[in-house]
Amino acid sequence: MTQRIAVLGATGSIGDSALAILADYPHEYEVYALSGHQRLDKLLALCQQFIPKRVCVPTAVVDEFAQRLKAAALDIDVVGGDAGLNDIATDNQVDTVVAAIVGAAGLPSTLAAARAGKRILLANKEALVMAGQVMIAAVKTHHATLLPLDSEHNAIFQCLPPVIQQDNTQIHDRCHGVRKLWLTASGGPFLQQSFSQMQQASVAEAVKHPNWSMGRKISVDSATMMNKGLELIEACHLFDLSEDKIDVVIHPQSIIHSMVEYSDGSFLAQLGSPDMKTPIAHALSYPARINSGSQPLDLYALSGLEFIKPDLQKFACLRLARQAMQAGTQATIVLNAANEIAVAAFLAGQVRLTDIADINEQALTGVQVSTLNANADIDDILAIDTVARRYTASIIAKLA
Ligand code: NAD
Ligand code: MG
Repeated sequence: MTQRIAVLGATGSIGDSALAILADYPHEYEVYALSGHQRLDKLLALCQQFIPKRVCVPTAVVDEFAQRLKAAALDIDVVGGDAGLNDIATDNQVDTVVAAIVGAAGLPSTLAAARAGKRILLANKEALVMAGQVMIAAVKTHHATLLPLDSEHNAIFQCLPPVIQQDNTQIHDRCHGVRKLWLTASGGPFLQQSFSQMQQASVAEAVKHPNWSMGRKISVDSATMMNKGLELIEACHLFDLSEDKIDVVIHPQSIIHSMVEYSDGSFLAQLGSPDMKTPIAHALSYPARINSGSQPLDLYALSGLEFIKPDLQKFACLRLARQAMQAGTQATIVLNAANEIAVAAFLAGQVRLTDIADINEQALTGVQVSTLNANADIDDILAIDTVARRYTASIIAKLA
């Protein structure tokens, strides 16, 4: 049966990789809906290529985009904004939602997809960082399926026994002999540079990742290693483990995408070229396998694989993420919000790369929010997110 797919965040880097695979399998997968927020020319070209039934754009441009589709003789339903994203994510015709919007903006539609019992291919790690418990509870209650696209989490998923994979990815530790998860990190473009060199980094240098080609926000997160911090929190929720069961190791070659350590001493790892098409193809076709179009790994071309302990002074964001995870959900919401604002300020030339960690730390200690209770819902989460964004903007205003 053809799987009907909605790609939310279709104009981004993950969107590109997902659509490249989908284009190769027109009989297996139907591109039913797309969304895009910027680069609407590209979205229009994707509409011409895939002819989806529905498309979501920012509310302000719904009419204009509908006119452009009409002029191109395309009969596609155009919806707008968050309501439009939710509408697509919960559409009865949609089987699978590729959640590839960047940042907190992706949370409402990803959660809506979970509540509609969809198969979710999750790239939007920020949704779990902000609302891990709510998301996982929704997945369980509504019998949704959550498959990680983040290469590390996808690697771990692949290294876990099928019995865990099929239980919405939760590890009931002890029973399955999982001792620890190892998240690998490339260390980003400044691994070999000093802190003071990192301080002077330009935007162009910071977004130029040595191994992966990605969107700007996640590229900056990789340079500060906040990305690994967000991934640590993501892994805690996805696999139901406390942060002390998850270690981070720098592996500059990005060949081993992560590992599971078992109590008998076995380390299971997933290896591959650093290409997001591999985890996306895995999740699309799981439990089967399809050709992702990524370059097979040439083992003979590999030189030594290195493993380095992260320097938590240079990469303070990683320390902050652990701290926030220990402190609880309200802290991870604050950290995520502060980081989004700080990264945007860096990209706008307002602060230095190394200021991001300081700003995040000030927000973590300075934002006063009450502890979320077990029944907290998305409105409570978004309220904390709003307070944290405002507070962070005031820190940045003082710095500038
Ligand atoms: P990107 O910036 O290339 O694309 C982001 C997409 O989200 C675009 O389609 C954009 O139009 C849309 N978008 C942005 N702001 C929006 C808003 N306010 N409302 C609705 N849509 C909006 O980002 P990316 O690199 O593709 O990353 C997407 C997500 O996947 C992020 O959460 C990132 O952490 C995660 N991820 C990416 C990679 C990668 O290799 N790029 C790897 C692992 C995880
Ligand atoms: Mg990753």
